[in-house]
Amino acid sequence: MTDEATDTKIIDGKAFATGLRAKVAAQVDVLKSRHDMEPGLAVVLVGENPASEVYVRNKARQTRAAGMRSFEHRLPATTSQEDLLALVGRLNDDPLVSGILVQLPLPPQISADAVIATIDPEKDVDGFHTTNVGLLAVGGDGMVPCTPLGCLMLLKNRLGDLAGARALVLGRSNIVGKPMAHLLIRESCTVTVAHSRTRELAEECRRADILVAAVGRPRMVPGDWIRPGSVVVDVGINRVDAGNGKTRLVGDVDFESALEVVSAITPVPGGVGPMTIACLLHNTVLAACRRHGIAVPDV
Ligand code: NDP
Repeated sequence: MTDEATDTKIIDGKAFATGLRAKVAAQVDVLKSRHDMEPGLAVVLVGENPASEVYVRNKARQTRAAGMRSFEHRLPATTSQEDLLALVGRLNDDPLVSGILVQLPLPPQISADAVIATIDPEKDVDGFHTTNVGLLAVGGDGMVPCTPLGCLMLLKNRLGDLAGARALVLGRSNIVGKPMAHLLIRESCTVTVAHSRTRELAEECRRADILVAAVGRPRMVPGDWIRPGSVVVDVGINRVDAGNGKTRLVGDVDFESALEVVSAITPVPGGVGPMTIACLLHNTVLAACRRHGIAVPDV
């Protein structure tokens, strides 16, 4: 395959996310200048998980870069559930905070479900509160989880109308697989959700016009499971041994063999990953506008 043919197949999530963040920044400018309003995102980190530290730092940096207020709350790993819930309660009441994100995973003494249930659904920019989960399931207008929202944006940007497409979502987690399936149903796709108990998984994959892989298993989906001409969105982020004592990131799809058959595919890294924070900023602006009863600026 020529370099040009390869380039046209690759869905550049990094570039799309850069564009989305610029759009959010332009919306924030309008909100500040016309409505005297500055959206704010509060991110709460409990403990010292190195991966979470990186995520939280990036979220705060990109929030500020979009012109929004960023509130970082770092609590020790020994924090009690009661203290964390009290902080969430204060953030719910704080008029400067439009969106709240509690970084997962949490230490064992804290129930993530209890924390998510305490976040005001209108400030739940992760879209994990059962109110927002329910709204998505019934086709309502809640907060949509960032990673599947980013996948949908990339798919629509590449394919336009998705109606009638056969979609296979591989993985049924609450943060990716299930909300992804609901979003695709909303777009009038015919959706199959596969998981670890699915029989004849390769056959199920081969029927799909759109395949979203969110499994967490390096290169699990080979090219010969993929329908020729289909579009593949690879959510997986897996660190594997690259030799020489180094590691590298790969997705859930075997990129090289998939590239031979797909019409388009997201790479790892540089595909879905950068979309997650961009969608978080998008959700924060949406939450701020809803709270103030104004339309999201059309920029
Ligand atoms: P989970 O571990 O919560 O869910 C994995 C899903 O894959 C489960 O539904 C599981 O099935 C299914 N599964 C596991 N093994 C198999 C198998 N052999 N065959 C078929 N299905 C299988 O993962 P997440 O949804 O949280 O994340 C998935 C991947 O996406 C991870 O690599 C994660 O790092 C990445 N991710 C990336 C994000 C980003 O780009 N920003 C954000 C979130 C996640 P069952 O339910 O039966 O156990």
